Amino acid sequence: MTAPPALPSAALDPDVLGRAGDELLETLRELIRIPSVNPVPFDAPDGETRAATWIALALADAGVPSEVVELVPGRGSVSARLRGDGSGGEPLLLLSHLDVVPAAAGAWTHGPFDGDLADGYVWGRGAVDMKNLLAMELTVVRMLAAEARAAGRDPATDPIPGLTRDVILTSTADEEAGGLNGIGWIVQERPELIQAAAAINESGAVATSFGGRRFYPIGVAEKGYAVYRLTVHGTWGHGSMPRDDNAAVRAAQAVIRLAVQGGPRPTEVMRTFLGGVADQLDGEQARLLRALASEDPRLGEAALDAICDPTPARVIRALLRDTVSPNIVHAGIKYNVIPGDASIELDCRLLPGTTEEDMRETVIGRLGDLAAHVDVALVIHAPPVAAPVDTDVYRLLARTVVDHDPDGIPLPFMVPFATDAKHTALLDVPTYGFSPLLLDPEERFMERFHGVDERVGVDALRWGLPVLYDVVRRFCG
Ligand SMILES: [Zn+2]
Repeated sequence: MTAPPALPSAALDPDVLGRAGDELLETLRELIRIPSVNPVPFDAPDGETRAATWIALALADAGVPSEVVELVPGRGSVSARLRGDGSGGEPLLLLSHLDVVPAAAGAWTHGPFDGDLADGYVWGRGAVDMKNLLAMELTVVRMLAAEARAAGRDPATDPIPGLTRDVILTSTADEEAGGLNGIGWIVQERPELIQAAAAINESGAVATSFGGRRFYPIGVAEKGYAVYRLTVHGTWGHGSMPRDDNAAVRAAQAVIRLAVQGGPRPTEVMRTFLGGVADQLDGEQARLLRALASEDPRLGEAALDAICDPTPARVIRALLRDTVSPNIVHAGIKYNVIPGDASIELDCRLLPGTTEEDMRETVIGRLGDLAAHVDVALVIHAPPVAAPVDTDVYRLLARTVVDHDPDGIPLPFMVPFATDAKHTALLDVPTYGFSPLLLDPEERFMERFHGVDERVGVDALRWGLPVLYDVVRRFCG
């Protein structure tokens, strides 16, 4: 038996850590109470700037200067930098986004912008996506600044004791709409607020129980996207005399064809993930997971059909193939006029290895003979991104999780959606999804994203804080 490695957080006074945990909860609740909603509502156009300013004040209270930057008034992002002595290399970036998706309050148990603390949870829009990690990152920065002050240093100008690299905290506007008013602009105009050896970002290291084991999927990759607008042509006419070339009828046929998904193609990250989970299980579950990871699409398809629980089934299906979702369909101007054209908007998600051109070919292929009546226009596209796994950073993330949860099994993971990592990739900043939370086995965390009654467990948050603190201290020590 070797002794467990010394964790930087183990050297902290338990009271200090306890108070930091209290501060984390209060920070999250305060941030939830600022409705930084995107798309920006007419009656609250400056939610992101209000959240950015709140953070700037919380940093100032800890002696840390920061900057609120805006491309569009009201749509602020905030950035601050703690100095290291520079001997360790490029900075570590603690990245987050300030904005949240809208919430229809009527369906919620606790008001989505009340920040209630009840039944062991912090409730509200952003509790999961992603004011939780933002609050954790801010709390770690405030802890480091407090340590500097306690050592007689000024965190505004002096290196933080023990830090060999700078630590940058940047929280952006507009992530939920692609980031062009937030990180997209920062990458172009203020790259020094992002440039780093590595970034910690949302979507990863959340405890996920399966087959009695506890896994921590660390985000190393995300799918790309391509949005297409299809214009379906037909012939205008009088509704009293139906036509086969009614554009609405053709659009309906097209939607049915487009929604039939293709075969599975496990990427390297997903093969590693599924194989890693299978290694911890036995019997039928392990066989099923190995079939999902198989290069043979027939085995994979059969295995997908065998997953009974609808939530993991939906996630795994999305992670093993390029997907096409027809999400907006428009046709018609009046009940007695046969429409001569119709439009369909497609949300397509691309696996690593699939190009936009490949995706377009898939769309046209699915249309079959209807393609002759359809124009396909690209609306917006971003390629898949991936951070390397065989690196000191990834190993440090994995090791720190295990040091805090010896039964935990960290594995590299891909998410089916897009985050600000699409933009950090443009500056070659390897970006890892790492918002450490030790959840109850029953917790349906994936359904909380953008969902009703979004909430996060108090104990899960308190567990995650020293994990993140140790990652920062170790990477920058
Ligand atoms: Zn998010």
